[in-house]
Amino acid sequence: MFGTAPCVECGKNVEPAQAIIREDGVRCPACNLRQEVRDDQARAVQGEAEAFELSLSRRAKRMGRAHAIIWGSVLIMYCGKNPVWFAPLAPVVLALAFGLAWRKRWAYFAALALDGATALAIAGWSVVTLPFAGLWLPGMVVGVAVLFIVLLWSIRGAYRLVAPGGVGGGARLSGP
Ligand SMILES: [Zn+2]
Repeated sequence: MFGTAPCVECGKNVEPAQAIIREDGVRCPACNLRQEVRDDQARAVQGEAEAFELSLSRRAKRMGRAHAIIWGSVLIMYCGKNPVWFAPLAPVVLALAFGLAWRKRWAYFAALALDGATALAIAGWSVVTLPFAGLWLPGMVVGVAVLFIVLLWSIRGAYRLVAPGGVGGGARLSGP
């Protein structure tokens, strides 16, 4: 820079020796310090948002794994000997598990529906067909399904639509 230039914030003329030049213009030392503090705060907020996104991704992966393990086991228990049911349902469970782990929005709603439907179906079926003493296993399955619904709800942020201009977001971070 040649000669003095006005500070973009306070408008004071700044000597070339004191001027701090950034992409958005020249600042005096005082305004530059204020700008650096603002930059630091913005970076801190950005860092927190990124850490939160990472934690959501980790929990989504655990959620997918838990769904695969539990619903895979339930499927084997209830339909393992019945290929007519097992063959079409196994890929559904797998797709759902991967969808959850990859933070797909459809997987969130599909999992809620599956968890809810399974809880209701097994609860209803057990009450109709089993004596009271035989209820522990289906009771456990229903309990896990309800737990899944609660856990899914707690990480619903992982499956939100990406807000325009928002930090991170399910769709952009998802994928293998
Ligand atoms: Zn200034």
